[in-house]
Amino acid sequence: MAELSERVRALVQPQMRGLEPYDPDFAPCRINLSANENDLGLPAPVRARVDAALRATPTNRYPDPMANELRDEIASWHGVSRANVFVSDGGDEALFDLFLAFGGPGRTLVNCPPTFSVYALYASMLGTTVLDVPRDPETFAPNADELAAAAADAAIVVLTSPNNPTGDVMDPAGVARVCEACPGLVLADEAYGEFAGPGLSSEPLLAAHDNLVVLHTFSKAYCLAGARCGYLLAAPDVVDGLAAVRQPYSVGVLAQAAALAVARERAAFEPLVDEIRSERERLLLEIRALGRALPVRVWPSQANFLLVRVPNASRVRSRLRDERSILVRDFSSAPGLADCLRITVGTREENDELLGALEAILKEES
Ligand code: PMP
Repeated sequence: MAELSERVRALVQPQMRGLEPYDPDFAPCRINLSANENDLGLPAPVRARVDAALRATPTNRYPDPMANELRDEIASWHGVSRANVFVSDGGDEALFDLFLAFGGPGRTLVNCPPTFSVYALYASMLGTTVLDVPRDPETFAPNADELAAAAADAAIVVLTSPNNPTGDVMDPAGVARVCEACPGLVLADEAYGEFAGPGLSSEPLLAAHDNLVVLHTFSKAYCLAGARCGYLLAAPDVVDGLAAVRQPYSVGVLAQAAALAVARERAAFEPLVDEIRSERERLLLEIRALGRALPVRVWPSQANFLLVRVPNASRVRSRLRDERSILVRDFSSAPGLADCLRITVGTREENDELLGALEAILKEES
């Protein structure tokens, strides 16, 4: 997408002059493994519930700003109370509200790159100083000692677990350490938490750490990326702070109705998540096997995607798109991710096609 025009660059706030409209580099393809969505799609009985809920929802009235019916369902799901739940227009809006309320000029966000680009984007838009505590360049593991030290002066620390796009987790003991060290808020972004192994969520820490905020979304495991609904779990006064800065009606009635139907049917997603996790492990082993003869490296992942490194990654990505109609995400120009592609775990058939195409292209390229 284009850079901002000279005229608009002169008109926007100074810290926004370098911004460009967000561009996921989407192209219509037969197989879309680029955005970490759930390729299996809503199970038919859940889809029927969602459809019925949408049909029964009038659209002439404004939504409940706080989505209280959905908040109650989420609260009973996670064993917290309504006051601990903040519902948003996708996790992205929750991030923006969090940074708006608790960041800003003269405050520091501690970030752990390479990670989800939106944190640094929102922080810089809102004039928040960003202090990077980089991950290990080889394993991408976060450095808990350095994070705890940096947290001592932070308004917000973001810990993404599993991390996008590297797939690794930060163990809850590390998160607890950062919470103890931080006078501000610590965000555990668990957008991909459903795909991680047991015992890896930081949610049990909420009771003991009133500066911890845990992010979840309906976009990934729960097949609602297009409906836009996410939520935070946090102490009640933090939720009040977020409620004070939010756009009043950001989560529409249709999104609330769809998310409520899905939340009530959450048990139906367990087999999908199991299937994605087992496909992820299969893909990992198959790509590792390719790596014995071809120049490809893959990192283990606790999410619904894998990070791979191949020579000429941008070219490989274009060839997958143009010759095979398979879309993956190119991270090769992101700092610390030279020649890296991120591949969402798809259906078994999609993964097989991806493997065959990757092998053929890598053979031709080497
Ligand atoms: N956190 C992380 C780590 C993500 O990767 C994403 C989506 N790409 C989000 C939050 C936000 O997702 P959504 O707005 O769809 O809920």
